[in-house]
Amino acid sequence: MSKSNEQVLDAVVVGTGMAGLYMIKRLNDQGLKIQAIEAGSGVGGAWYWNRYPGCRADLPIIEYSYSFSKELQQEWDWTEVMAGQPEIESYLNYTADKFDLRKDIKFNTKVTDAVYDEAANLWTVKTDQGDTFTCTYCIMATGCLNEPNYPGFKNADAFTGDVYHTAQWPKDGVDLTGKRVAVIGCGSSGVQSIPVMAKQAKELIAFQRSPVYTFPAKNAPMNPKFLAQAKVDYDSIREQQRNNEMGICNYRGPKKPKDPNVAPKPRPSKKIMDLTPEQRKQEIKDFGINVLTLYADTYFNAEANEIASQLYCEYLQEFLGDDQKADALSPKNYPLHCKRPVIDTEYYGAFTQDNVSIVDLRATPVEEVTATGIRTSDKHYEFDVLVYATGFDAMTGTIKKLNIRGRDNMQLSEQWENGPRMYMGLQSAGFPNFFTTTGPGSPSVVSNVLHSIEQHVEWIDNCIAYLRENNIKTIEPELAAQDAWVEHVNEAAKGSMMTAPTCNSWYLGSNIDGKPQGFMPYLAGTKTYREECEEVVAKGYEGFSLAS
Ligand code: NAP
Repeated sequence: MSKSNEQVLDAVVVGTGMAGLYMIKRLNDQGLKIQAIEAGSGVGGAWYWNRYPGCRADLPIIEYSYSFSKELQQEWDWTEVMAGQPEIESYLNYTADKFDLRKDIKFNTKVTDAVYDEAANLWTVKTDQGDTFTCTYCIMATGCLNEPNYPGFKNADAFTGDVYHTAQWPKDGVDLTGKRVAVIGCGSSGVQSIPVMAKQAKELIAFQRSPVYTFPAKNAPMNPKFLAQAKVDYDSIREQQRNNEMGICNYRGPKKPKDPNVAPKPRPSKKIMDLTPEQRKQEIKDFGINVLTLYADTYFNAEANEIASQLYCEYLQEFLGDDQKADALSPKNYPLHCKRPVIDTEYYGAFTQDNVSIVDLRATPVEEVTATGIRTSDKHYEFDVLVYATGFDAMTGTIKKLNIRGRDNMQLSEQWENGPRMYMGLQSAGFPNFFTTTGPGSPSVVSNVLHSIEQHVEWIDNCIAYLRENNIKTIEPELAAQDAWVEHVNEAAKGSMMTAPTCNSWYLGSNIDGKPQGFMPYLAGTKTYREECEEVVAKGYEGFSLAS
């Protein structure tokens, strides 16, 4: 359903993933006239598009779920600890129905332009379906990982078999039975999909440029008692999440009474540098390889990180017992924590199968795609199906592709030519009443992103309510405040393994040829960030220019 094109709306919301859905709800609650626009045929955003085999949450779902509705928390029964894509998509559909959000969404429609008319103080939003919507507030809820990355291999279109991208997986699924499958990319999407595809495919070749550090997801069916207790504890869970810098509380469920006759299990050490080599190995034995994610000093201390990295590679060598595969899969050239942690289910186990092989593209780069496969510098590989698990033009890709014009016809993509420039990840100077949820310069992807989404949606919604109550026509950042914030974001990332000289990641833009390099998310933490956002509001929207 779409609103009349002549009607002036209060707001247009672009995207109906987790952010867009909650934004629609909040704006509805305020009684605003709105239109949401969605490229897909259904709601869910990332959880609509990424329906590749094995796709699931990389955080426990109790924590990676909406907190805004107590009713929703009580009504929805999760079936797995780390829920899979189908269940999360169902949950988001349920949310859309429960809060009657679909009436506001136009599906199968892509926004092409958003242009600000200064005289009228209105945004004109156009779509590929010929719609024109006029509104006061334009809100981009387009997410951080939306624009699929297709590497520009030579003769990329030459392959005559089936080609898929994990982020654009067909709704009806793909039957890989008896097929020879090539997967390019071994990040989160590759790591999750390879073991599942390898069970079906006759043969699977993983073309890997950078090996990952990946840790077992420890997924399991949801224990009904655990879920029931979580429902009782939700208020406390959410409060603890708010008090944590990642938006995570590591909820453990019902606490068992301690048996006085059983010695308590030791806790892992806080610092790897405090341990002897023997103790380090013992902690891996006691707590599993995931213990390497727990040592605080590995995040900022290069020496500690190097020790952890070596232990990881030794563990892999032992687990695989195959020198060629272990060598190819070992992440030796960049630090642990440089990239977003990858969480897997039987990833390395897949490489012990006879039908799974790995091609190390660092040693033998892709030269070209051919009609029947891929030619590397070493040999020609033939297969039937080519799967790109090559990630995204993250954080800026989607927005930069659109024709977004603010004051004086200035184009957002030009303003961001050398990297995104935003104040608090919420707004860009020169683009009044134009908001972005989880934009560059906010914690977004370096946190429990749903936690960050809710905080942003609430901030934007409260801001719009404030503007309306006080007859304020526009809000936009002051240029000086924006420049200072960009600097502040850079400072926060200094010394982190995420900006180490040997680190390449989509956080830095280095996964996309020609993209400006710079750390895009804000690393100070969600609690710190929320307090900064609250302080800005308490000081009368400090750093923003408000005009009546
Ligand atoms: P990604 O982390 O960027 O991984 C893409 C993979 O493709 C990397 O191995 C990359 O190698 C490779 N690649 C890219 N261009 C290539 C080229 N030209 N030649 C060869 N290899 C190339 O993307 P992703 O796996 O889709 O994950 C992106 C993010 O999405 C994750 O970090 C996470 O935030 C989110 N995600 C989350 C989940 C979840 O668990 N819920 C699942 C999937 C994705 P290099 O590393 O060398 O660039």
